[in-house]
Amino acid sequence: MSKPSVLISGAGIAGSACAFFLSRAGFHTTAVEPPPELRKSGQQIDIRGAALQIVSRMGLEETVRSKTAKEAGLAFVDTNGKRLAEFPVDEKGGMSFTCDIEIVRAELAKIFLRCE
Ligand SMILES: Cc1cc2nc3c(=O)[nH]c(=O)nc-3n(C[C@H](O)[C@H](O)[C@H](O)COP(=O)(O)OP(=O)(O)OC[C@H]3O[C@@H](n4cnc5c(N)ncnc54)[C@H](O)[C@@H]3O)c2cc1C
Repeated sequence: MSKPSVLISGAGIAGSACAFFLSRAGFHTTAVEPPPELRKSGQQIDIRGAALQIVSRMGLEETVRSKTAKEAGLAFVDTNGKRLAEFPVDEKGGMSFTCDIEIVRAELAKIFLRCE
């Protein structure tokens, strides 16, 4: 019996991760992407909770950790630079503004698409 086929529209973060797991499950998977080259735009992505489990199951946790934005946290300051509030990196994977594995969208897309 031939493999069932799946077409994924968009090979960004979600599309590439889906393609990985569907291929591993035995589907013939094709992901289509309109731009001719990797889209480099996007903000930072927090890898925590379920996202950390996913990159770990993809065997990419170490690679992702090596490419993080090395963010120290977030601080609100007044016009003199005095710190009014601070939100340090949350290394326990909680719901702070920043976590220890913050990676720029394009970096994560490159890792998923293996186009270093
Ligand atoms: C304003 C902003 C705020 C953000 N905030 C957060 C945040 O709070 N937390 C966080 O973790 N991340 C955040 N991000 C980061 C990150 O961009 C997303 O989490 C992540 O990229 C979502 O993955 P995705 O696969 O859904 O979308 P994308 O990575 O954008 O992938 C979608 C893909 O579909 C493709 N596509 C578009 N149109 C078509 C079409 N017609 N046919 C086929 N393919 C198509 C695109 O080219 C793209 O590659 C933010 C990004 C922005 C811009």
